[in-house]
Amino acid sequence: MDSRINLLNFDPEGMSDYIASLQEKPFRAQQLMRWVHQRGEADIAQMSDLAKTFRATLAEKACVSALPVISDQQASDGTRKWLLDVADGNAVEMVYIPEDDRGTLCISSQAGCAVNCSFCSTGKQGFSRNLTLGEIIGQLWMAEHTLRKEPGAIKRIDSYDGTPLDEHEGRVISNVVMMGMGEPLLNYEPVVGAMRLMLSDNAYGLSRRRVTLSTSGVVPMMDRLANDLPVALAVSLHAPNDALRDELVPINKKYPLKELMAACMRYLPFAPRDFLTFEYCMLDGVNDSDQHAKELVELLKKIPCKLNLIPFNPFPDSGLKKSSPARVQDFAKRLMDAGIITTVRKTRGDDIAAACGQLAGDVKDRTNVKQRMQVVKFDKGVTRS
Ligand code: SAH
Ligand code: SF4
Repeated sequence: MDSRINLLNFDPEGMSDYIASLQEKPFRAQQLMRWVHQRGEADIAQMSDLAKTFRATLAEKACVSALPVISDQQASDGTRKWLLDVADGNAVEMVYIPEDDRGTLCISSQAGCAVNCSFCSTGKQGFSRNLTLGEIIGQLWMAEHTLRKEPGAIKRIDSYDGTPLDEHEGRVISNVVMMGMGEPLLNYEPVVGAMRLMLSDNAYGLSRRRVTLSTSGVVPMMDRLANDLPVALAVSLHAPNDALRDELVPINKKYPLKELMAACMRYLPFAPRDFLTFEYCMLDGVNDSDQHAKELVELLKKIPCKLNLIPFNPFPDSGLKKSSPARVQDFAKRLMDAGIITTVRKTRGDDIAAACGQLAGDVKDRTNVKQRMQVVKFDKGVTRS
C-alpha cells in the first residue's frame, strides 16, 4: 500500500499549508497545483520548473493518484460513462455529456446515498461511504486529462484566467454538475474543497455559474454553501406538497417545503445569475396531474427560477413509470403559461444507463467487477448504436 500523500486531496489552502510544512516558498503551492490540475501531470519528476532536489523529496512523500477505472463506455450520442473503483467492493459513476456549446461532467460525491428517494437507483442501494476530496476532484482530473489527449477531442475553453492555452492544451470540460451518486451537501467539506479547486485559477478556472450543485434540500447546508462558495444551485423538488414529497424525497420530513423554500429565498442573493433551478422528475400517475401543476405554480411563482422537468429514467424493480411525452409537454405548458421558465431535460446516454438516477455503481461482488473488466476490454473505443 502506498503511504504517500495524494496531492489530489488538497484544496488550494491545503496545498499552501502542505508546502509551508515542507518549508518551501508559498508560490510553490501554485506551481504544484498548475502541474497537477492544469497539466494533468502525475509524475513529480516531470515537473520541470521545480528544483530537482525538491522534486526528489516530494516524490518520496507525495503522489498524484486518481480512482482506478473499472469500465469506460460510450453511448451512441457521445455520452461517456466511467465506473470507478472506490474499494471495499464499492464503485461510483461519472458521466461526460458533450453538447454543441459545452462539455459537461457529472460527478459523484458519495458511494450510495442515505436520502433514499423512491425513484432513484442510487438511493435504493443504501449508503456506503463519503468520497474524499481527492476522490471527488480526481474524477474531474481524470476525465479532463483523458479526454483532452484523445484525437478529435472538442476543446471548449482555451484559457485560464485570460492566459491563453495553446491549441493542444485547450480544455474539454466547460461545466461540472454535482449530480452523480450521492447527496453532495451531506459530504460538505470534501465537496466544497473540490469545488474550490474547480473555481481556482491555478486549477480548473471555471466560473461559479459553470459549477452546479444539486441537492435534495439539506436546508442548513444550503445556508452554509451560500456563505462559503455560492455556486449554481439546483434543488430536487419532485413534489409540490409535503404529503407527496415526504414519500418521494424522505428528507422532506426533516426539512419540509416551507423551510426548503425559505432556504432557497435566502440563497438567491448569492446565486450566480440570480436564479435557482428546480428539478422535477415526472412520474406517471404520481406527481404529473393538472392539480400538481397548479400547486407547483403556486409554490414557484414568487421565486426567480428555472424548472427542469426530468422524464423518469426507469431502472429494474422501481415499480414506477415515466410520464408520457404528451403528459410532460402538457405539464410544461401549464407551468410556462403561468410564467415559469420550464425546460424538459433530454435523456442522454440511455443505452448505457448513464441517465439521471440510473447510476448504479455500487459493486458489492468482486466477481461482478471481474466480469465488468472483461466487458471493458471488449467495449473500449467502440461507439454503440
Ligand atoms: N442527490 C442530489 C444529486 C444527485 S441526483 C439530488 O438528489 O439532487 C441528480 C438528479 O437526478 C436529482 O434531481 C434526482 O432527483 C434526479 N433523479 C434521481 N433518480 C432519477 C430517475 N430515476 N429518473 C430521473 N431523475 C432522477
Ligand atoms: Fe440521493 Fe439524490 Fe438519489 Fe435522492 S435523488 S437518493 S438525494 S442521489
